[in-house]
Amino acid sequence: MRLRTLEIALEGLEGFGRPDPRTEQYGTPAVLAARLLHHAHLLGDIGGKAVCDLGTGTGILACGAALLGAARVVGVELDPDALAVARRNAARLGAEVTFVPGDVRDRSLIDGLGSFDTVVMNPPFGAQDPHADRPFVDAALTLAPVVYGIFNTGSIPFMEAYTAGRAEIEFAIGGILPLRRTFPFHRRDVVEIDVEILRLVRR
Ligand code: SAH
Repeated sequence: MRLRTLEIALEGLEGFGRPDPRTEQYGTPAVLAARLLHHAHLLGDIGGKAVCDLGTGTGILACGAALLGAARVVGVELDPDALAVARRNAARLGAEVTFVPGDVRDRSLIDGLGSFDTVVMNPPFGAQDPHADRPFVDAALTLAPVVYGIFNTGSIPFMEAYTAGRAEIEFAIGGILPLRRTFPFHRRDVVEIDVEILRLVRR
């Protein structure tokens, strides 16, 4: 599937109804989600693979992975409202995804998911809760040998220090995350933050 075709499919998906600032529910824009998935696909990490999306939200990364021919896709999410949207999105695309309600910090939940080839995720950046992304990184490296995550630009040194001895960090691609005025504390209508998509390879 061409990148543009994937973007168009993902652009049609339903977003968060009432985003919850505490869990940093910023949906990944279709263009960025498609770039992450397409890049991962070109490196052989999606097609025919078992893929897990941590904090799947409305399911955009999980659905996109299924569209690119992943053999098995699981999406884990804390928020039941987001999961309801994710299920509608998957049905709309005819994407086969298993959605699992639960908390990424729950070790027994993560251990019970089994193992995957690839994790994709747009974790909370830790703007509300510092280090909120850490349990995502830990769970991801438990689940799969290859992880793609969207992080604030400049995160590489922190990520290298945090995963030292556990993973190699590779820069995959950069992008922009436009954050709309979703929450009352946002002062501008749209703020664009630079992000980088990192590929973590388990040692
Ligand atoms: N993956 C989606 C959503 C990103 S926003 C996308 O790319 O558009 C981050 C998501 O992680 C939110 O849906 C939030 O509810 C979820 N989340 C935050 N903390 C979580 C946790 N501890 N366990 C599971 N999901 C969590």
